Amino acid sequence: MPEVEYEDKYWFEELFYRDVESWMSADIACCDHCYDDFLASWPLAYGAEDAKFQCNSIDMDSFYSGSRLQDCYTKDEFDYFIKKIECPRCGSPLKYNIWCYELPFMVDPEFEQHAVELDRVRKETPFLLLTNPFAQKVHTAICELGSTYTPEIVLAPLFRARAIDPKVKTEWLATEFSYPPKEYVGEGRYNHAGLPALYLASDAQTCFYELRNVDCMIAKLTITQPLKILDLTREYGRDEEEHESLFSTLAYSAFMSARQDETGWHKPMYVFTRFVRDCALQAGFDAIKYHSTRSNSSFNIVLLSDNSVPLESIVIEEWSNYPTL
Ligand SMILES: [Zn+2]
Repeated sequence: MPEVEYEDKYWFEELFYRDVESWMSADIACCDHCYDDFLASWPLAYGAEDAKFQCNSIDMDSFYSGSRLQDCYTKDEFDYFIKKIECPRCGSPLKYNIWCYELPFMVDPEFEQHAVELDRVRKETPFLLLTNPFAQKVHTAICELGSTYTPEIVLAPLFRARAIDPKVKTEWLATEFSYPPKEYVGEGRYNHAGLPALYLASDAQTCFYELRNVDCMIAKLTITQPLKILDLTREYGRDEEEHESLFSTLAYSAFMSARQDETGWHKPMYVFTRFVRDCALQAGFDAIKYHSTRSNSSFNIVLLSDNSVPLESIVIEEWSNYPTL
């Protein structure tokens, strides 16, 4: 049976967007069809800002019953006209759910354009990353930031975990929480194979999550020397300078914040982060602060090299099992 056709007497699309705006105060970020793609591109958006993205989902039935559209259109008419509206992200007809969300920074207008190519380069020819215009912008921005940045003392303690079987290993030395020997260092999010870095977290629980919830020994430590930290966790507003927006774009994007769930040698998720590591070191940074991909409200700090932050600057205060035995 052919679908009933309705005449649009009130300009449905305009009234629809008027109600979206007044109700959700953000544009449509994605629909059911492009939800996975949106979060694959912007993994940090899922839990950021107290899970605002998740809270701003709405199904079309609830939207109809709570909006002023019901003053003009019957439910059947609404169901008919809503399918004529295209998702601004993917162009699919809206049907069941929308997510109204605005990234809390200005996305570099060229980012989406370069992201596809950047993704190909990092997977196929990672040594050529710097031929990509977006990667060049990141390199320039980090170098410029590095030239104006003053080192600071990190006042709060940091935490470092090592996986253990508590029944097998019972005695620990403070030095065992330091940089790992280079012959055992594999490729990490912010280090190349054979080049030790020290991965620290803001709290013990984050350490535990980063180690995929296995039994571990966690040390509390302080850094006594001032550090020059490239901070990728800072929330920049939508009216910040171009460079700041660039760092937020990076932090929220899959290039920096995607989980590396694959095991083995192939780790494309770490290519861009290791590129940022190289830029940071060249710009004189000692460390990078970044969002944990396994815990929403916490952060990690990686000390990039034992040349810039030597052992003598790291005081291991105490350590204990986690979860507590
Ligand atoms: Zn969509």
